Amino acid sequence: VINRIQYLRISLLNSCNLNCTYCRPAQVENDKLISGNFINYKNSIKFMLKLGVKKIRFTGGEPTLYKKLPELIQFVKELNPSIYTAITTNGILMKQRAKILADAGLDSVNISIDTLQKRKFQSITCKDKFEDVIDGIKYSIKELPKVKLNIVTIRNFNHQEVHQLIQFANSLNVDIRFIEYMPTRYNSHNNDEYMSGNNLMKLLPYNFKHVQSDKSSAAKYYTSDDLSINVGFINPVSHSFCENCNRIRLTSDGRLFGCLFSGASFNLFDTLKKGYNHTKSETETLIRNKKYSGCSLTTNNQSKFPSFVNMGG
Ligand code: SAM
Repeated sequence: VINRIQYLRISLLNSCNLNCTYCRPAQVENDKLISGNFINYKNSIKFMLKLGVKKIRFTGGEPTLYKKLPELIQFVKELNPSIYTAITTNGILMKQRAKILADAGLDSVNISIDTLQKRKFQSITCKDKFEDVIDGIKYSIKELPKVKLNIVTIRNFNHQEVHQLIQFANSLNVDIRFIEYMPTRYNSHNNDEYMSGNNLMKLLPYNFKHVQSDKSSAAKYYTSDDLSINVGFINPVSHSFCENCNRIRLTSDGRLFGCLFSGASFNLFDTLKKGYNHTKSETETLIRNKKYSGCSLTTNNQSKFPSFVNMGG
């Protein structure tokens, strides 16, 4: 069972410097802010490396707001330099942070940008930070070994802009991925904004060729003769990839989840105090009970949906 755990995603804190309407609308600002304790993260990471985790992604909320992010990356690399480290960020602070994160040993950054139009950026994120994100992308490319762009496809918001987004990524020579819009606690009433990855592909003027990638990768990658980059499609709604999932997720309040959509969890920070063997067996039970049920648009029980700002997406 435990072999299935290779990739740990830690949501370091649930605060963010954006209020994306589909993820963390403004009313969520009043939620209790939770930022995990540094020692608890270090103990959790040590435990996960013992279990065989090979890759750690720091997310959030906005992970660059976590002051000790460089120290955590350095901690991972000191424990084992072969562990792949990554972050998912909105990019706003990357102009200031890219170099320090690279020096700490960060291998890769995914930057979320849903539109290239300043006015639309402001309407979806509720903040006037478009230029900071563009700067953040440029500094990340300059300093870090690997940069990818993430776009959530939203019908009638950005689906007509996909070709421009690909051209933008191609001009920077970075891969780009389109993520199907998933239902969450804050947007589950917006099903008409969903567009499948396959329908999106049909709108694009490329002769796409499939690119082989890691079986456990959430994205299916394509390229074409007129592109120097890979274009990825992450289709959790239309094509669940549960079968090959090797992820486990830790939230800033210490809860460990086997799946974004399963709801089952236990408190890793507390359980670790009971020792390695006990925690290992709790983790095995969590993974054994994974439902592999994918992410469905059909349930209408909103309380069952995750909050991505807590889970890290
Ligand atoms: N603040 C960071 C960022 O903006 O990338 C990290 C956290 S954010 C929750 C992680 C990713 O989840 C982002 O790429 C975001 O666009 C994506 N996301 C949030 N809500 C989503 C949804 N309903 N469907 C698909 N992706 C979503």
